[in-house]
Amino acid sequence: MTPIDLRSDTVTLPTEAMKQAMIEAPLGDDVYGEDPTVNALEEKCASLLNKESAVFAPTGTQSNLIALMAHCERGDEYIVGQQAHTYKYEGGGAAILGSIQPQPLEFSTAGVIPLEKISAAIKPADSHFANTKLICLENTHHGQCLPLNYPGQVKALCYEQGLSLHLDGARLFNAVVKQQKSLAELTQSFDSVSLCLSKGLGAPAGSVLVGSKEIITRARRWRKVLGGGMRQSGMLAAAGIYALDNNVERLETDHQHALQLKQALLDLPKLEVAEYSAETNMVFVTVPESSIEQLNSEAKKRNIILPEGHQLRLVMHLNITQNDLTKVIDLFTKLYG
Ligand SMILES: *Cc1c(COP(=O)(O)O)cnc(C)c1O
Repeated sequence: MTPIDLRSDTVTLPTEAMKQAMIEAPLGDDVYGEDPTVNALEEKCASLLNKESAVFAPTGTQSNLIALMAHCERGDEYIVGQQAHTYKYEGGGAAILGSIQPQPLEFSTAGVIPLEKISAAIKPADSHFANTKLICLENTHHGQCLPLNYPGQVKALCYEQGLSLHLDGARLFNAVVKQQKSLAELTQSFDSVSLCLSKGLGAPAGSVLVGSKEIITRARRWRKVLGGGMRQSGMLAAAGIYALDNNVERLETDHQHALQLKQALLDLPKLEVAEYSAETNMVFVTVPESSIEQLNSEAKKRNIILPEGHQLRLVMHLNITQNDLTKVIDLFTKLYG
């Protein structure tokens, strides 16, 4: 039996229909630009974001890295959130592999670095300093959407200072559904955008970087250099196309599930539920440290997999049904009610 796995929305398994689409996909060698399914996915994403071009990458980490390397040269700098994925959770790839210096800054609220802090961090042209080149934002961040007017404000600053703007949109589709805006509307201020197909959308692998022809041509070169030229990757791209056609609107169900879970947990006084929970598909709850062992053993009996520790991020996704959710709520109610 498939476990009820709440650790991440990356754990989803492809459905039979998605697998069928993968089997039927016309294929070719993508390094020669000859995989029709990869080309179709790239064109579809470029068109959805109203941008010129796109490139399919194996992971979101690589998609972000090739974007950073396309925007920046050795010795350049990018401004990024202290808790942002591209800074904190990508192994330092920008610095290690791109020779790009990160300038991390604290978020004030989810995903938002105050404009004055960004301005103050931009280095003047002076050989003492790295050359500030790029700002990188993230949407959603910890399950929260960027405020709608914020990217435009950052873009204005970029314009004034001659900087570029990249979006790590690993979970951008959750914001699309939550804020009822199109992908194009949410990304118009950005020069490049990385989208993940393997999070809430449920594809087994794959990310797409979208942007101008010039940026994507450079990124495509870095993808090859980093070992991301995948040949008959149309099989994976087919899963991505299927996910875009079938699994975006249903993210609303994940958001509803998160809200149900949040409300149930709020009734349990022994738990601390973060107020910002369930804006999209994540609930953040702190359980008493002394209860972790019992929680995990009770969870195991019910075939539920939780993240480690006592500060839990519980993530809803397409393999969590209403029935599963009831079991999860029962578990917490039994232990903390
Ligand atoms: C998952 C994720 C990525 C990319 O991760 P991969 O596992 O490399 O696909 C990038 N940014 C954010 C915010 C993510 O959650």
